[in-house]
Amino acid sequence: MSITVTQEDVKSLVDGLNFAEKVERSLRLIREAYEEFGSRLVVAHSLGKDSCAVWDLAKRVSADIPGFIVTTPYKPRETKEFMAQVVARYPELRIYQSDEETPERLYETDPDQCCEILKVRPTRRAIEEMNVASWVTGLRCTEGRTRTEFHETEERDKGLIKLNPILLWHEREVWQYLALYQVPVNPLYAKGYRSLGCLPCTRIANGPNERAGRWLGTSKCGGECGIHTRPLRTKSQK
Ligand code: SF4
Repeated sequence: MSITVTQEDVKSLVDGLNFAEKVERSLRLIREAYEEFGSRLVVAHSLGKDSCAVWDLAKRVSADIPGFIVTTPYKPRETKEFMAQVVARYPELRIYQSDEETPERLYETDPDQCCEILKVRPTRRAIEEMNVASWVTGLRCTEGRTRTEFHETEERDKGLIKLNPILLWHEREVWQYLALYQVPVNPLYAKGYRSLGCLPCTRIANGPNERAGRWLGTSKCGGECGIHTRPLRTKSQK
């Protein structure tokens, strides 16, 4: 893959490229990855607005690109209904869910462990079972305090390329894309949410940090579930 940029380049490109240039760049990143990895290029679809944009971009590159969704028992009803609609339209999206027992209200006592069990481990399983060489995310560097240091292509786990094709997009540009290309989104956005997660851990929040409503009132506030920060390959996969 030929697009390699420094962290300084990333910062200048966020405001230096216009919307159309960013869309072209994202398509090019996905196209190059698809040419390199074929069906082992897999989209991680979170059912959020960013994933909806990335999934639509991927489908423009090739209808054959597969994907997976990690869901939890705590997803809001609207998200579960939206997931059913998305999967009915795109059966190539596989659903993963933990079958481990979790202590009651673990999300209050130890949200990191709750996310580890319900989100990170099923993501690892998806990557293993789908034989993923490169996974595609909807991560953006303007999304919050924890997302400023990423690159468009990364190899955090040896042999597993992470592609962040809309890393440079602003929140506004995601909505611009979804509106222009009439991509359906989770109805919770109409209620004022800007970043979606599990019901007990997600609030409506205003202000500059669009992830400020995630894990509000905990040390994890505005943070990460762990799929972008913890190892995703187990020893047996290396
Ligand atoms: S977002 Fe909350 S409920 Fe969902 S897995 Fe993480 S801690 Fe648990």
